[in-house]
Amino acid sequence: MNSNSIKDVNFKGRKVLLRVDFNVPMDDHRHITDDTRMRESMPTIQKLLTDGAAVIIMAHFGRPKGGFDAALSLGPVAKHLEELLQKPVVFFPELINDKVREAARNLQGGEVMLLENIRFYEGETKGDESFARELASLGDCYVNDAFGAAHREHASTAVVARCFPHDKYFGFLMEHEVRNLEKLMHGAARPFTAIIGGSKVSSKIGILENLIPKVDNMVIIGGMRYTFTKALGGKIGNSICEDDKMDLALALLKKMDEAGVQYYLPTDSVIADNFSNDAKTQVVASNAVPDGWESMDCGPESCRKIREVIMASKTILWNGPAGVFEFPAFAKGTNEIARCVAEACEQGTFAAIGGGDSVAAVKQMGLADRMSYVSTGGGAMLEYLEGKALPGIVAIEQ
Ligand code: ADP
Ligand code: MG
Repeated sequence: MNSNSIKDVNFKGRKVLLRVDFNVPMDDHRHITDDTRMRESMPTIQKLLTDGAAVIIMAHFGRPKGGFDAALSLGPVAKHLEELLQKPVVFFPELINDKVREAARNLQGGEVMLLENIRFYEGETKGDESFARELASLGDCYVNDAFGAAHREHASTAVVARCFPHDKYFGFLMEHEVRNLEKLMHGAARPFTAIIGGSKVSSKIGILENLIPKVDNMVIIGGMRYTFTKALGGKIGNSICEDDKMDLALALLKKMDEAGVQYYLPTDSVIADNFSNDAKTQVVASNAVPDGWESMDCGPESCRKIREVIMASKTILWNGPAGVFEFPAFAKGTNEIARCVAEACEQGTFAAIGGGDSVAAVKQMGLADRMSYVSTGGGAMLEYLEGKALPGIVAIEQ
């Protein structure tokens, strides 16, 4: 892994083709509402510039339908990048043409250029080789810092790397993600506890199956646990459930038994008489939800038990909220888990948090800095946890 790190290389005089994930949220006026993703790649950009490299940045935004689209231009990103770097950024709101090529050719050490939205080209998402070669012709080495796009076999995230067999590297953000994921999946300290939740079993099957041989404890929370509870013969009222996944749920529990995994389904639930923040609520046994009520969060007894499991673990992986945390009335379980995991980290436990909603919950609580590792890549991390090889990582390591 070391030889793939930009840390060990001096890029003075080099022309670096850098892929980042600048797919930031924007409001209706095209103002960036959260620049976290941009700031996360600043250490990589700064290192390359400080070395004296000319940096040509590739990034995507949204889902263009093919061809140039002013509404999805990276113009606002270029402007914000100038503010973050405190220097001018060469940017043309147009597809790669002679003018853009010449600007790339003339780019000097310490200067930055941002290419227009890389998904304006059909060849990008198709992973087209000739488009990748065209991109490669702009630089003399390749750095990938776009972990959020690492699960895509796209021209700028994977295919282009093959044009630089001896000159391809992970940026700092990507290296951090890869290191932590490898630590989690290979050689995790025991006991290793996975806490898996969220709304649907169907979106977590791959993760559950891949984790069974690796973990000691599996805590199954969130809406998806009701498919398990119903399959086990419990009464779940109107709680969210995937009836067609009940057999699978039972098969997963059997696999856990056979693998010696201790699994834990919360025993009490906070239920509501409708799906809203100000619904009437009560706490009941999770397998005895009355008709007309639905489960929204795990209850206090379950929180105490989950806390015990967390505090006795040396490695924790958490993906998927415990309840409908978007409603403050039903965020207690999720918040309590976040607090316990943060506390465990302070006692030396290694904890990884992944998944768009789980990470949002941890950030919302201001606890992200206290976790060992919070993944920046929603889909990419989940696919890694499913045991899939990520094209963006493989392309660099090969
Ligand atoms: P992540 O993005 O972290 O992988 P998911 O997308 O799988 O997480 O799940 C997040 C969603 O699960 C949230 O929108 C949350 O409201 C929902 N959820 C959690 N518990 C319940 C529940 N008991 N009933 C309905 N939805 C739930
Ligand atoms: Mg989600």
